[in-house]
Amino acid sequence: MVTDVPISRVAGAVITKWRVVDHVHLLITVRGQPDEARLLCKCERGHWIVREHFGEGPPKLLATCHNCGTRVELDLEGARLPKA
Ligand SMILES: [Zn+2]
Repeated sequence: MVTDVPISRVAGAVITKWRVVDHVHLLITVRGQPDEARLLCKCERGHWIVREHFGEGPPKLLATCHNCGTRVELDLEGARLPKA
């Protein structure tokens, strides 16, 4: 069962899996949680522009709210760059 999770609840969480459904809804699986959750913005919408960011430090999942422009940055687990 998919539950809604507000962005205030995922601060500092590590994401083990994620996927986008219906082009805009971001479903995340948080480490230690068995179920997927649908990320909701503080504006109570769940329309996200999502991309992964690989750079210095751990990989990140960056989500930007399509409605109000709020940006969320989440740590990704197990998504390392392949070795060159
Ligand atoms: Zn928003």
